[in-house]
Order: sequence, then C-alpha cells, then structure tokens
Amino acid sequence: MALSPMMQQYLQIKEENPDCLILFRLGDFYELFFDDAKTVSRELELTLTGRACGLEERAPMCGVPFHSADSYIPKLVERGHKVAICEQMEDPAEAKGLVRREVVRIITPGTIDIAGSTENDENIFIASVFATKTQVGIAYGDITTGELACMHLEYRHNLDSLISELVKIAPKEIVYDESSLPENVLAALQDPQVQTYLNPVDSSYYRKALCEKTLMNQFGASSLISLDLDGRTDLVLASGSLLLYLGDTQKQRMEQFKHLDIRESSNYMQLDRSTLRNLELLETIYDKNKEGSLLGVLDHTHTAMGGRLLKRFIKEPLNNQAQINARLEAVDAVVNHPLERNNLVAGLREIYDFERLSARVASGRANGKDLVALKNTLGALPEIRNTLEDLASSALLAEIRDSIDDFDDLYQMIAESIVEEPPFIITEGNLIRPGYSSELDDLKESIRDAKEWIAGLEQSERERTGIKTIKVGFNKVFGYYLDVSKSFSDKVPENYIRKQTLVNNERYITPELKEKESLVLSAEAKINALEYDIFRKIRTSIEPYIGSLQKASASVALLDVLVSFGDVATANGYVRPEVDDSSLIEIEEGRHPAVEQMIGSGMFVSNNTAMDTEQESLLLITGPNMSGKSTYMRQTAIIVLMAQMGSFVPCRRARIGVCDRVFTRIGASDNLASGQSTFFIEMSELANILRNATRRSLIILDEIGRGTSTFDGLSIAWATAEYLASDDHRVRTMFATHYHELTVLEEQLPAVHNLSVSVSEDGSNVVFLHRIIDGPASKSYGIHVAKIAGIPKAIRQSASRKLKELEAQSAPMPATTQISFFDSEIAPEPERVSEEPLPYENVLKEIRGMDINSLTPIQALVRLQEIQNEI
Ligand code: ADP
Repeated sequence: MALSPMMQQYLQIKEENPDCLILFRLGDFYELFFDDAKTVSRELELTLTGRACGLEERAPMCGVPFHSADSYIPKLVERGHKVAICEQMEDPAEAKGLVRREVVRIITPGTIDIAGSTENDENIFIASVFATKTQVGIAYGDITTGELACMHLEYRHNLDSLISELVKIAPKEIVYDESSLPENVLAALQDPQVQTYLNPVDSSYYRKALCEKTLMNQFGASSLISLDLDGRTDLVLASGSLLLYLGDTQKQRMEQFKHLDIRESSNYMQLDRSTLRNLELLETIYDKNKEGSLLGVLDHTHTAMGGRLLKRFIKEPLNNQAQINARLEAVDAVVNHPLERNNLVAGLREIYDFERLSARVASGRANGKDLVALKNTLGALPEIRNTLEDLASSALLAEIRDSIDDFDDLYQMIAESIVEEPPFIITEGNLIRPGYSSELDDLKESIRDAKEWIAGLEQSERERTGIKTIKVGFNKVFGYYLDVSKSFSDKVPENYIRKQTLVNNERYITPELKEKESLVLSAEAKINALEYDIFRKIRTSIEPYIGSLQKASASVALLDVLVSFGDVATANGYVRPEVDDSSLIEIEEGRHPAVEQMIGSGMFVSNNTAMDTEQESLLLITGPNMSGKSTYMRQTAIIVLMAQMGSFVPCRRARIGVCDRVFTRIGASDNLASGQSTFFIEMSELANILRNATRRSLIILDEIGRGTSTFDGLSIAWATAEYLASDDHRVRTMFATHYHELTVLEEQLPAVHNLSVSVSEDGSNVVFLHRIIDGPASKSYGIHVAKIAGIPKAIRQSASRKLKELEAQSAPMPATTQISFFDSEIAPEPERVSEEPLPYENVLKEIRGMDINSLTPIQALVRLQEIQNEI
C-alpha cells in the first residue's frame, strides 16, 4: 500500500519543519496528524480521530476550525511548541489535482501576533544574542509594534549586566548560535531570572556578509556607515541575524521594521535588576503586583503604547540633564494648563494601539476592524495637535506636535471605503461601503430582487399554503429550504420537493427557490472575492504611510506618558525637581510615593535628605527595626529616579545632581533559589557595587554584614563605610546599620553624617515617629518590636533581663579597635572582654600581614569570605 498523495505532501512539509507542530489546512479546518495529533489532542483536550491515509492503519488526526485557531495557537506556544501554519495556496475548487500547500509562518513565543494573546501594555520582543569572549551584541524587535533596537555590552568579570539588560527587555524568546556562543554567555541566557524561551538556531544566520546585506536591504542603505553600524560587528550580527530569522519564519519581508534604534547605554541610567526589584519599581516584591509599585502610582496612561513606554521610562531613567529638563518642562506645561490637559486626555482616550495597527498593516495582516480603529485614531489626532499649539512653550511638546503628520487623506480614504462595523474575517464580504466601487454596487444590485424574493418567501408561502409555521432556512449542504412541521405534511403544495426528513420536520425546496438561490450564491461568491480584492488594495495603499504612522504613534505614546506624569503630579501634589550637574541630593519633606498611597495621604511622615559628594556624602542611619529606615532610603532613591525619568516628585522641594547609577543592597536577594548562601550573595552584590560605583552614583545599603557573625559583619560594614566615605571615593551613600559602633565614624571622616529615626518613649511604650533626625540612635528597641509582633510577655521579660546583663558585662567597643581594611595601619587587637582566648588568633595574624595597598576591595571581600569559612 502506498501513502495517499495528500499524506505524502503532509510528510514532506513535516520533514522540512521537524521541530514544529504542523497545522495543516484542510478546507475549514487545521488538521494535525500522527504524533502531532496525539500531542495536541492531549494538551488541548481535543478528540483524537483518524483519517485514511493510504496505509492499512488510519493516521491519527485531530483538528481545530480555522476561524477559532487563534484561540488554540497561543496555548500551544505557551506550552513550548513551535507551530507551523500550513495553508492552501490555491482555491481547491480551481486546483488541478492536489491543492498546493505551504507553511506561511512559524509561530513561537517571540513571534506570536495574535490579538488578545498578550497584555496590551506588554511588548512581545524576540531577541538575538551574539557574543565573543568580551563583548555581547543584543538585538530585539517586536513584530507586532515594529520596534527594533540593538545594544552593545562589554564584559570582563561577569555577565551581570547582560542578565540585567535581558531582565529589563524581557524578551519572550532568544535566538542564538549555540556553536559560537561562549559558555558563560549561554549560562547567562539560562539564568532563571531571564525566564525566556531559548531557541538555538542555525549558525548560518550569523554570517557577517549575509547580516550586512540583510540590514542594508531592510533599511534601504548603501553602506553600514549610513546605518551607524560600521565596525560594530556584534550589533551587525545580532540585528542582521534577527531580521534573517524573522524573515525565514514569517515567510515575508519584515516591513514593519522601518528603523533600527541603536541604544547607547551611556544615554541611560544603569539600573540593575536587584534595584528594579528592591525599589519595587514595576511590581511589589512579595506578590509581584503592579499595585503598590512605582508603576502602579505613575500609570495614568490612556493608550497601550503609552503603557509600554512608561515601563521603559521607569526601567531607563535618563542621565542627560538637558533631556531630563526637556521632559520636566513638558510636564510643567501640562500641569499648569489643566484645561488643555483635559483636552489631551479626551483625545488620548480615542486612540487605539496604532503602533500595533500600523505593524499589522505593514505585515499584511490587518483586517477591516483594524482599519476602522486606525481611522478613528487618525480622527482624534487633529484635536490633539490643536491643543498642543497652546502648550508649545515646551520644546518637547512642540516637537511632538510637529511629528504628528496630517493624515486627512488617509482618514478620508478609509472612511469612504470601509463600513463602520466590518466583520473579523475579510473573505466573507460586508466590508466595503456602497458607493465606493460601482462594479461591486452593480453586482449587489443584480441580486437585490432575488434576495428580496427569498426574504419575502416565508410570508408569501404562509399565505399561499395556509401553513402558519413554514420557515425559510439556509445551510451549507442544501442551500435554501422550506421547513414544515410533519403535522402539516398533507397540506404541502405540489411544487414542493422533499429533500430531508427530520424527527418532527420535513425540508423542501422548490425549483424557483433553487433558481434564485444559484443566482444569489454565485453572485455572492463574486461579491466576496471582489470585496476582498478591494480591501487588499486599500490596505496596500496604506503601506506608504507606515513610516509616518510609526513616527506619530511614538509621539502619541510619549505624549501619553508626559500627560500621565502631569496628572499624577496634580493628583498627588508632586513638585518639579531641579535637576543639574551638581554633586547634591537635596530633598525637602520627601515622601515615598507608593507607601504614601498605601497608608493614606496625610499619614505619611515626610523627611528631608541632604547629601553632597563634596561635603557629607555618606548618611549613616541608625534606629530601631520597623522605624522607617528603609522606607527613608528607598524614597530618596525613588525620588532621584523619578526626577531622572522626567517626572515630578513627592516632596516640597528637590535638587538632584544627576546620578549615573543607583545601586541598592537591600534585604533578601533574587538569587535565593540558586543555592548560594545569603551571605555570599550579599557579598557578591556588595563587590559589584564597590567595583562599579562612581562619584556620580547613589548607593543604598541596608544592614550590610547582617548575614554573618557580629564581628565579621561589623568589620565589613565598617570597612565599606570607610571606603565609600574616603576622600578618594566619596560616593553618595545611604547606609542603614544596626551596628551602633559605626556611628563614631562621623568624628573620623568629614564625609560621614549620622542620622537616626526619632522614637517617643512613654513609660514602657515606644512610639515610632518615622521622623529622621540628626545624630545617632541610642537604643535598638528590638524587644519593643518583639512586643508589636506578638512575642509572649514571659519571653520578652526574660529577654529584657538578659539584655541588661549583657549590657552590664560588655564595655562598648572603642573606635580604635575596629579592623580597618583600607588603612595601611592595622588596628590594635581589641580589648578582651572575657578570659577565654580568642578563637581567631591566626586570622588576626593573617590580617596583620596583609599588604592592604595591593588588595582590591573584591579581593578583600573574597578573602574575608574564606576567613569566615575557616573560623
Ligand atoms: P526599618 O527599615 O527601620 O525596619 P521600614 O522602613 O521597613 O523600617 O518601615 C516599617 C514600616 O513603617 C513601613 O512598612 C511603613 O508602613 C511605616 N513607615 C515607614 N516610614 C514611614 C513614614 N515616613 N511615615 C509613615 N509610616 C512609615
């Protein structure tokens, strides 16, 4: 026995795409065969049937109706399958022999372009990564929006920055050449935080000449120089391979990509992933919720595009003073013109996701509804532009206005051609307005009488026959029929021809009905084909507008974010920060935007912050647990970040000398699952900060050294504070610690300033006022916190007694006994408070013998880790 020709065709296609599930179009269904069918029937709970295939046994088969495939495909892709859509390439009615079939696109997590398959305010990025031993090129694009960007990273010590960038981009899929990618880069892609679909692809995508040609073709450039890519091999390979791969799997030119954005990391503040997480910029730490995060506070955007851009703003604050102030100027204008702001909001509410609509037009996938949405969007633009006239005092708003073209002709064209409520499917007519095409109108006119006759048939037959329940129906098998219940069978007139008998009814046709029917059906097939044709012409004629539509949609997205900043500032009483190149961070009556919103306005206790690289650069904050130290530090960092995003800030007044990076080392780490000790992670993060911080950075350190024994921890905290406050380094730092011993640093180093959180004591009751005051804290109030937390009274009393005993026993450590890592002079041995010999004599000996001047901070930390393991 031999396989049937269709099955041979199927197997051929399967062989060409062995890693894909093949959705094989058969009439109105997509069918799957053999193992694919078994997999899909199991995963989507579809019935597994069989189909004769020429062999003895039937081929296992299951299928989904083609018009509902969009609801099945995302489920398969989510479960990690690649899905190949195989279509009929010719009309089966006209095909001679076997219908030609081809894979028209391959769908993976990064190329899924199905409405509703993703959150609207989320990008669907697919990335390509190319790397050598020292450099990485990343390119990423969203086929649903037409955004395409690339960036270059250098790495020496580790790939933290690559992981951070990937966490921020959050690609749904990464393609790479497994054979050339360095092992550590591959490991970075596999890092659990990156959480993406890894798709190793053929190394031929990463051929330099081919990538260069692809890029020049895509952007119509004659050389790499005009693309700004000359000599930037890693960028060329990353972006070229991405375009090649997409072209291959989508089986078409990627017309939606009109521009490659080369992202220079120096234009943006470098935020690493632990800072994004610790400061809860996009989601809260515990329940991963947008509510309660900075995004939750700032998101008053009205368009999906604005929602996506706001997230990017939060992940990438600027570090260029002029650009920041341009945004602030725009927000200022929006805040100070409430009427215009309301107008803009009203306009933005009319705007659809026309970034995605334009991309759908470019890729030839837009349907009638998309074009109507595009038209309605274009209709809202003139009013937005008019309103912006009045806000042109802001150069940025003026720029936005100028970059929104006049789309009047495009608007008119769609308005005149497409009906107001077209169906989703574009091959079944009802798309084109009467009056647009006389050929179409004539065809429709030609069957008007026949259609009216059929429409009136029910009534006329009821009257003629006296059968009150006659109905006219239609189905695909019999076409039009007359339905009569059996009880009236004897009344049925002569010219009725019985076609079908059901339980209670009989279905009849008449010669005249069939005659009108064939007239109507053949004309309708022509009408649908003509409408489809006209529709495609209209869609093609929009293609030349894609570039300017993309420019306009980017501008509208930016406007949406700026208006949202203005709205939030007005609603929450934020002020415009002064942003300059000074060495200051000065905040008067600062508040934490998310905590303030959570506990209700008026309940939050505002606090000042003053730091200056040239003067007091390190704020050493002591105070009881739960008193508000971390909130205070986080609010300072968040205010700095908000200012550099171009947002107004929650305080009375702020002056921010631009920061190049914000580092945070707070609480539990992201890597807890990786099996490393908490302390090791804490030290690695600290090492990373010490290695990368500059005089322009801001560092937030919460309870450094907590993960180890007291002396270890104190030494590390001490050494770190001293290093960061030394005249050579002077990084703006907020340093919360429970090691009260550190507070003596204020006397030794001019850069150190003590702060604490004030506490009001009333007998045995303690009230945390959350107010930051000058000077060190006196007590730690741990036992009081234990009371709030519900530790039983007996245990608290016993703890109080023990505390008193311990305090009486141990004299406070004199400042000179601290071990200083960064002094060449070694501190004398600490005074012994007990008669026991110290267990770490040899350690002290080693430390004495160390050549501190030749040690880097990280070597010191690593050695310290080893020492800790020894003792
Ligand atoms: P610490 O870091 O000192 O342990 P937190 O900063 O975590 O303390 O603050 C503990 C709680 O106190 C916070 O969850 C918050 O509800 C409240 N809190 C902190 N700062 C303030 C403030 N300035 N105004 C009002 N409540 C605050």
